Amino acid sequence: MLLIIELGFAVATAMVASDRGRGKLAWFTLGLFLGPLALVIAYLTEPLEWKALENGTHKKCSFCAELVKFEARVCRHCGREF
Ligand SMILES: [Zn+2]
Repeated sequence: MLLIIELGFAVATAMVASDRGRGKLAWFTLGLFLGPLALVIAYLTEPLEWKALENGTHKKCSFCAELVKFEARVCRHCGREF
């Protein structure tokens, strides 16, 4: 019974982390060990996307809103030219 609860936390943590551009497997493992605490930590981490925009290494595609490299001339997600 306890194992099912732990697995639930691990899956939820992995989903939140991948939403923020982080590795699913690492956070899944963290969720297994830390349970609810890992989920809270995953929620508190700021998305990698913000950092990339802040540093100016990436920009947001104005067509599909995905993150692309700042120097990119063609969006790698939707294929449109800037
Ligand atoms: Zn795009």
